[in-house]
Amino acid sequence: MSNIGQTGTAAEVAIRRELFRRGLRYREDFKVLTKPRRVADMTFPRQRIAIFVDGCFWHGCPDHATWPKRNAEFWRQKIKANRRRDVNTNLRLRELGWTVLRFWEHEDAKHAANVIEQHVTMARLRQRGSAPGPTTTSKRTTVRTWLHQKRPMLCEIGVGAASHM
Ligand SMILES: [Zn+2]
Repeated sequence: MSNIGQTGTAAEVAIRRELFRRGLRYREDFKVLTKPRRVADMTFPRQRIAIFVDGCFWHGCPDHATWPKRNAEFWRQKIKANRRRDVNTNLRLRELGWTVLRFWEHEDAKHAANVIEQHVTMARLRQRGSAPGPTTTSKRTTVRTWLHQKRPMLCEIGVGAASHM
């Protein structure tokens, strides 16, 4: 446990602990893109799954974003820039065939781990050739947690929908 919790927010740590408990071994803070560089909070490089845990304040969570009154414009621009960067990161990764999973820091860690586990399991089955996977002509999966919706929900393009609990 000693090296768990040294990096990452409480939300990241909670998800990492849950993945670890399930025997899912991820890379921490893996550089998934260069120029400009992007680091995913958790990564399954072989399955090309990149996971981000977005802070409610920094990424403008619809439920918990608070807009400071002091220097309001500064913070607004900062948060908007973060969100633009998130979208850009998603697009760049998707173009390279990655699955992107984003969670809010307020999200239940077990729920997040369920979603991650489903995707890792599916990707592994596909890699073994024992599950129907995307063909070369189909679009790659992109999963994003709700950025604009209040309730936990996944919007998924491509492979079948992941359930939420
Ligand atoms: Zn939130």
